[in-house]
Amino acid sequence: MFRKLLLLLLAALLMLPIWHTGQEAVAAGGSYKVGTKSLPVRADADGESAIKGYLSQGTAVQVSEEKYGWAKISGGGLKGWAAAHFLVAASAASGGKTVNTDVKSSTTDTWNEVSGSGVRLRSGPGVSYSVIGSVTTGDRVKRSQKKGDWSRVTTEGGQTGWMSSKYIGGEVSVSSGGGSGPSARSSRGSLQGRLIAIDPGHGGSDPGMIGKAHDTEEKDLTLSTSKLLAEELRGRGAKVVLTRDKDDEKPALSDRVRLAGSADAFVSVHYNSAPNKASGSLVFYYSKSKDAPLAQEIESELRGLSLRSNGIAFGDYHVLRENSLPAVLVELGFLSNEKDELEVRASAYQRSAAKAIADGLQNYFGRKSS
Ligand SMILES: [Zn+2]
Repeated sequence: MFRKLLLLLLAALLMLPIWHTGQEAVAAGGSYKVGTKSLPVRADADGESAIKGYLSQGTAVQVSEEKYGWAKISGGGLKGWAAAHFLVAASAASGGKTVNTDVKSSTTDTWNEVSGSGVRLRSGPGVSYSVIGSVTTGDRVKRSQKKGDWSRVTTEGGQTGWMSSKYIGGEVSVSSGGGSGPSARSSRGSLQGRLIAIDPGHGGSDPGMIGKAHDTEEKDLTLSTSKLLAEELRGRGAKVVLTRDKDDEKPALSDRVRLAGSADAFVSVHYNSAPNKASGSLVFYYSKSKDAPLAQEIESELRGLSLRSNGIAFGDYHVLRENSLPAVLVELGFLSNEKDELEVRASAYQRSAAKAIADGLQNYFGRKSS
């Protein structure tokens, strides 16, 4: 009898809506403004669902629903789901604030160090929710909500998701001026307003390399990784041009270079293959003066990935040789190596690679302008 009562109580607790924690930043029926430079509006409340468009900072939106940190919004001619963290109350918005200064009232300024490698970020508080990204030892997160063993966090890159609380380590003190956390990154250089061309290798009738153990097609990996890279770059204020964004597209090499137009940099994304047991990433450049500095910056960030870096190398590839932009071709792992293949198939790896490439670009522009 007592046990039955306990079960009933537990069931009742589980059914409590999430807003009972009183920590939600937005409420259904409220008026808000976009509090970040470029806010992706998605088809669903899920970081991997299709992007319908972008809203610029200060755009007025109405929220009709809220769930797990996502807000169903309409405004600026778009309807869809956006990360609630990037919305600020219409009355409070000065218009000039960005997510980096964190206008959200319910969060503290306390950052926590992540303790665990490749910790998954999910769209909701539990393993049944989809994986939307990952964080790893040394990354910092800001916690806004707790539910059971799960915490809703925002990363330094501005991504919001749920992670297991056991991987949240000690607090990191942040000066009130925001000397660390997100702004530490921007001091390395800015991607704001930069136009980056991303070239997902192969496509259409050309699958590229085929994985040894799981028949993974290179063209699928290059496209998914490139989309994650595009999202990462847009989140940092850059504009992006993709030389293809569909599986069935196969632009000619010359078209890939032409499509990049007057971008500030060109990144071609590939996965490698070799007859031996080779493993890890490799960054190719063609021109020592024009391309190698960018290759070097990206390679030094790729060293932080779970697969080893094999450094930078000269590569006589059309998309590099015939390119007037600073251009690199990154090989992010060997599909001929079973261990590499398993690793690179995971979106967590691809997201880490995307982040590393974005960091490298950011450092490159920082060095150029200083
Ligand atoms: Zn390739």
